Amino acid sequence: MSDNKFIPYGCQWIDEDDINAVVDVLRSDYLTTGPKVLEFEKKFADYTGAKYAVSISNGTAALHAACFAAGIKEGDEVITTPITFAASANAVLYQGAKPVFADIDERTYNIDPKEIEKNITNKTKAIIPVHFTGQPCDMDEIHKIAQKYNLMVIEDAAHALGAEYKGKRIGNLSDMTIFSFHPVKHITTGEGGMITTNNKELYEKLLLFRTHGITRKRELFENADEGLWFYDQLCLGYNYRMTDIQCALGLSQLKKSDKFLSRRREIAEIYNKAFKELDGVIVPFQKEDRNSSWHLYVVKFDLNTLSMSRRKIYDFLISQDIGVNVHYIPVYYLSHYKKLGYKKGICKNAEKLYEEIITLPLYPKMNDEDVEYVINAVKKVVL
Ligand SMILES: *Cc1c(COP(=O)(O)O)cnc(C)c1O
Repeated sequence: MSDNKFIPYGCQWIDEDDINAVVDVLRSDYLTTGPKVLEFEKKFADYTGAKYAVSISNGTAALHAACFAAGIKEGDEVITTPITFAASANAVLYQGAKPVFADIDERTYNIDPKEIEKNITNKTKAIIPVHFTGQPCDMDEIHKIAQKYNLMVIEDAAHALGAEYKGKRIGNLSDMTIFSFHPVKHITTGEGGMITTNNKELYEKLLLFRTHGITRKRELFENADEGLWFYDQLCLGYNYRMTDIQCALGLSQLKKSDKFLSRRREIAEIYNKAFKELDGVIVPFQKEDRNSSWHLYVVKFDLNTLSMSRRKIYDFLISQDIGVNVHYIPVYYLSHYKKLGYKKGICKNAEKLYEEIITLPLYPKMNDEDVEYVINAVKKVVL
């Protein structure tokens, strides 16, 4: 047993080669806008199979940039899931548009395409499906709806680096896909993010948005006769760049992503086997044609058959030094959303799920002893 050791729900894995990659950049000429940025983008595009990849300061900025590039503006509506991190919906608010929450599938906990279609109005401009825990959403059905109503699809793949949908890796299926490199995600750069796309026009818009809206590409200027010092600002962008320091770390981490991924899958398999046996515990359902990247391991408790409430289970596991969590509080339960007028009752399945779930620790550096320790603690709850 791992005594006196806190097991977090997620954690990075940094080795000496990652540290050396960062130190090399610190000794070089470029700390930002240098060669490591382009190299990371190229390698990341290759990994996901996308034509273009744009590095950006974090996953939230990636969502913001994608909403900008999709042309989301005041008066528009964008459909997403309430079972996500607030950033998926906040990005829509940044653009002055309205997030519309569509309910989830009871089994996968991903956004339900039928619920998306129910929520479409003449103001709907885009869909942001979130591959919750790393299991890809029903992308064929979502693309069909998008085509029928002429909507953009921005995949929030913050959980889904390396995940597969019908044998294809997430990252080149939709108009744009966003990733996060926060330390609990699959690979880390401290803070960082990426947007992948196959569309050149969207790619150009993302680049502009990331750098103040400013460009030195003379073919884009209104007046190409200006002196060579001249740059132009074509729209209101931000400084959302990643540094070369971060991109060097990202490159080093990306090399290990398959190793990280297979360890995540191994741990999920151990959990599945152990918890399938237990009454009162419902293991995550996986569709046949998906290969999850297992960012999170979310168990659902059948609280009718258990003597403990979810709060008691949570408190007990924390008391055992297990860093459990709840992913997610439905976004529209949060005060900022309440102030905007969202009320309980919008998404029944999501609200029910929220009462019944707990996220258990899952990260590649977790050893078998830690996994056993978590399993035994859960057994104490239900047996
Ligand atoms: C982590 C996360 C984000 C935001 O990414 P950051 O890099 O932390 O800004 C967005 N959506 C989901 C689903 C996430 O898990």
